[in-house]
Amino acid sequence: MCTTSDWPPYHASDRARALHQSLWVADLHADSLLWGRDLLERATRGQVDIPRLRDGNVALQVLAATTKSPRHLNIARNDDRSDDVVLLALALGWPPATWRRLLPRALHLAARADDLAARSDGAFRVIRSRADLAAYETARSLDPGLTAGLLAIEGAHALDGDPANVEVVADAGFRMMSPSHFFDNAFGGSAHGIAKGGLTDAGREMVQRMEARRMLVDVAHASAAAIDDILAVAGRPVVASHTGLRGIADNARNLTDDHARGIAETGGLLGVGFWPTACGGDDAAAIARAIRYAVHVAGIEHVGLGSDFDGAVPVPFDASGLVLLTDALIDTGFADDEIAKVMGGNARRLLADVLP
Ligand SMILES: [Zn+2]
Repeated sequence: MCTTSDWPPYHASDRARALHQSLWVADLHADSLLWGRDLLERATRGQVDIPRLRDGNVALQVLAATTKSPRHLNIARNDDRSDDVVLLALALGWPPATWRRLLPRALHLAARADDLAARSDGAFRVIRSRADLAAYETARSLDPGLTAGLLAIEGAHALDGDPANVEVVADAGFRMMSPSHFFDNAFGGSAHGIAKGGLTDAGREMVQRMEARRMLVDVAHASAAAIDDILAVAGRPVVASHTGLRGIADNARNLTDDHARGIAETGGLLGVGFWPTACGGDDAAAIARAIRYAVHVAGIEHVGLGSDFDGAVPVPFDASGLVLLTDALIDTGFADDEIAKVMGGNARRLLADVLP
């Protein structure tokens, strides 16, 4: 399902290669923890593993925990009755606690990331705090081959209905969470749900608890009503970790210009997605055009990358091919300092500000 239209080796201009090597690249969304591949090994399927993050000069990859996913999922309308993640849990031998409850699934995926770090001989680490980030920046300035992850949750149904479980996922190191994924839940409506409502009372409590724990609220997949509610109550930066804009691709999954500006006004970030219904095409040039539009609407300080690598959507290149995007951004007319911001500088600045 995680198809890639072009495989390495990737060919970019000398200028793009030199610029790309100088960047601190960050991507706000990948589902690579879910599939059971050992991410220490270079794979010939999927889009992210440690060797390919290193080849792509990726400094930070947000790794999201998906805990429940409906059968036959689609972007228009899904209910919460089916659960394909349980099939993965059984097939991959996850602990029995994960079979019926969702919180243990999120904790299991966090443990997988920590296990990956422990086995990586220092090549990969999980960032949980400003102190972690600062230490990592120093280490990476000496060894540019290092890479890191930040843990996120895709859909607050992972809290098993109880907003107090924000404390549990924050303690486990999750630093970003979207209220919903493909279906409406106890906290808020999904853009792909049935009722597509706003935040519930439990959802408001969740946002308060997340902000108190310095977790980023992510509006990716949220219904329009839920985004309205989140922007109304948010006291800290809000992100859309992986998104498109309706001005580029007009569908319910993508942000209106008003929502994009509202996110920018919180000091947050739009992670521009790499898949066709987000960026409006199937190559690096299309992603660069979508980024140009996002910058036009939200401002150069508020746009980043939200690939959705390993998210069961087709993308033009894997993590090792991000130099192609740097090349396309040059062709689109961005200055080097603007490219540095979009490719990861903005995410780095935000995390240095918001992490505990
Ligand atoms: Zn997603």
